[in-house]
Amino acid sequence: MLRNYVSTRDENIKATASEAVLNGIAPDGGLYVMKDIDKIKVNVNELKGMSYHEIAFYILNCMLTDFSESTLTECINKAYDEKFSAKEITPLVKVGEDFILELFHGKTSAFKDVALSILPYLITESLSMNNIDEEIIILTATSGDTGKAALEGFKDVKGTKIIVYYPEGGVSQVQKAQMVTQEGNNTYVCAVKGNFDDAQTGVKKIFTDENIKKLLDDNKKRFSSANSINVGRLVPQIVYYFYSYMNLIEQREIKEGEKVNFVVPTGNFGNILAGYYAKILGLPINKLICAANNNNVLYDFIRSGIYDANRDFYKTTSPSMDILISSNLERFLYYISGQDNKIISSLMKDLSEKKKYEVNDSMKEKLKDIFYSQFANEDEVNATIKKVYNEKKYLMDTHTAVAYKVLENYKQDTKDNTKNIILSTASPYKFAVDVYEAIFGKSNLNEFEIMHKLSEETGVKIPNNLEGLDKKTVIHNFVCEVASMDDIVKLSFDS
Ligand SMILES: *Cc1c(COP(=O)(O)O)cnc(C)c1O
Repeated sequence: MLRNYVSTRDENIKATASEAVLNGIAPDGGLYVMKDIDKIKVNVNELKGMSYHEIAFYILNCMLTDFSESTLTECINKAYDEKFSAKEITPLVKVGEDFILELFHGKTSAFKDVALSILPYLITESLSMNNIDEEIIILTATSGDTGKAALEGFKDVKGTKIIVYYPEGGVSQVQKAQMVTQEGNNTYVCAVKGNFDDAQTGVKKIFTDENIKKLLDDNKKRFSSANSINVGRLVPQIVYYFYSYMNLIEQREIKEGEKVNFVVPTGNFGNILAGYYAKILGLPINKLICAANNNNVLYDFIRSGIYDANRDFYKTTSPSMDILISSNLERFLYYISGQDNKIISSLMKDLSEKKKYEVNDSMKEKLKDIFYSQFANEDEVNATIKKVYNEKKYLMDTHTAVAYKVLENYKQDTKDNTKNIILSTASPYKFAVDVYEAIFGKSNLNEFEIMHKLSEETGVKIPNNLEGLDKKTVIHNFVCEVASMDDIVKLSFDS
């Protein structure tokens, strides 16, 4: 068995791809990375004429080395079906001279659907590949969006249950409605009397509770998490970088081998890291443009090589990018250090003790060579949404607007005329209030009314999953204290 995944912090900790999918995080707290990934080369010519599914197969087959071809085909077919409202899965739209890669046509209208649609199947297949006869219980604390995407991904997947905790009063009307109306015979949703951090800490406590551990063992169950450091979430995201590139070739917008830029609205560094993987695998990428909002720790890092999370935290209208510690960055550091576990261990020790670290000169050079970074503030985001709608009739969400603005800065700054692909990570209707107000000004309507008003004014259709949400039956009405979050875990055992 090929144990070619290792921990970023200790290469004696080895795993197969399926073990990495099951474990999520490595036992020493590091992340699983494929050693010598640069020895794999994708021949881009071979991808010509391939569908999304075929490219997904090609890429997953390179990366998930112990999965059989038939297993991968099955996972891909189950994940990418009519759940997606676009048959291309991730359509590419031309807006002015740039291209927008719409990653929001899945069940919850956000980019996390692309990976969370396939992760449940990768997990259940990994169980059977490793002869583990246990039921998986996914536990997730959510500040809004990830929880819903995970619920949809795991809904009715045999051999799994999913429990999502959200802070009572800490999510938007729409987000709450999405979660409490969740269907599926294996889904559990619980409001926690506390904030997101309380819910997160509560989940971590359940994961390490000895009594619960014993209960799990006795009942042939195990916990797992669906967060973005899982190899099974990262790998499916590489696919659309290749897919969109091939799309530009087919449309004769670029010549074979011509380089392109990708602009990525970045939070936890998972999406843009998949772009870096695509580059290592041989996709002709000029710059990966890392777009940040006011929480611009990555922008500072890319310029200076100093990562410093000791700073104010801002709540912005692009909340999925409000992150000060980007977990997936550790994988990138591993590769640019020349796969040096000692360097990574020491940097991560600095991060946990001082919330700060500095990389060496050779790493700094690679950082600048691979990335460009800028950030956009709230006024710029609003002005961008309005301008692009008025001038180009394209309606974009707040996260995509951050990326769009940063691309404008990049063009001014560099005069580079490479073709650009902007990754659009959410439907405008996911953030309808901010989008509406950016274009039409303040409104006193509630979130659902604004959604309809936005659709009336712009003619852009509301995605099916958001339409009529306020009239759907509430299925989940559990509320719990932080101290009794484990009640629902026990309850899930009996049903
Ligand atoms: C999660 C998310 C992001 C950030 O992606 P990362 O992989 O965490 O960098 C950006 N936009 C939206 C809408 C998201 O849901």
